[in-house]
Amino acid sequence: MIPAAVVAAIILDGKKLGAEVRAEVRGEVERLTAAGVIPGLAVVLVGDDGASATYVKNKTAACREVGMRVEDHRLSATTTTAELLAKVAALNSDDAVDGILVQLPLPRGVDTVAVTLAIDPRKDVDGFHAENVGLLHLGTPRFVPCTPAGVMRLLALSGAPIEGAEAVVVGRSNIVGKPVAALLTQAHATVTICHTRTRDLPKVIGRADVVVAAVGRAGSVRGEWIKPGAIVVDVGINRDAAGRLTGDVEFAQAAQRARAITPVPGGVGPMTIAMLLSNTAKAARLRRGPRPSDG
Ligand code: NDP
Repeated sequence: MIPAAVVAAIILDGKKLGAEVRAEVRGEVERLTAAGVIPGLAVVLVGDDGASATYVKNKTAACREVGMRVEDHRLSATTTTAELLAKVAALNSDDAVDGILVQLPLPRGVDTVAVTLAIDPRKDVDGFHAENVGLLHLGTPRFVPCTPAGVMRLLALSGAPIEGAEAVVVGRSNIVGKPVAALLTQAHATVTICHTRTRDLPKVIGRADVVVAAVGRAGSVRGEWIKPGAIVVDVGINRDAAGRLTGDVEFAQAAQRARAITPVPGGVGPMTIAMLLSNTAKAARLRRGPRPSDG
């Protein structure tokens, strides 16, 4: 815990904002349920990775809490690609299932791309299917991937103008870095994407008005690199030597310089779950929701 006295920045509270989003979704679920449509999410967990099991537990609990129907499918670590594809096909053809989430990473040997592309794009609430990636990049998203959507909500909370800002995204994964960069570009920021081959990370970060760190290594963004007054969003989830959760950014030092910063835990994590609920409600509405003419 960082003593409040050493933190100069505004803390972007993902727990509070996430609760607000969940309350909005609960209202939408109530409206859909009244119209005879209970939004349903099917989560598929393959293998026994502890972190993945925790994420799945948190996601399914949050879905139930807003009144959604949840199916929790557990498959053994020896599941083959063909077996997983068969499970996805069954969920695709189940009308009561609005959203399908296959928790990543999948065990070695399972073809992640094949599985991602097998999910019905209208049920792809993670937004990882090529069709949804394409729609996002065309600027007409159907499902914005949950973590990037949460990052954008936290940036909006900061009140900082994104238009015209220099934004630096550290990390270029398909699930975080690339979609965050696309969303920032659409919000009219000037975006730089950094990765392991970036030559002078401190210099690039030093000119950023907005920094989004999605690296997966504690301390990979040093506090002293942050430009005074910048907004910092830390996506990273790491464990320190004592087993405590920590982000990618040196929080205490960065908070001395930043205008606003997300904590870990309590920043992007709760927003990711909130945006999953939002996408699932949207999937139900788009597929089965009452049309305006239904009254
Ligand atoms: P990946 O491992 O897929 O990508 C990490 C990226 O960071 C890569 O592009 C890599 O570069 C880059 N990178 C690694 N080391 C450095 C470095 N020293 N300097 C600059 N760039 C570096 O991770 P994800 O995108 O899946 O996840 C990133 C982090 O976010 C993880 O901690 C993950 O747990 C967390 N996460 C959190 C979520 C949440 O809800 N809060 C949701 C999803 C992820 P290169 O491409 O060159 O290898």
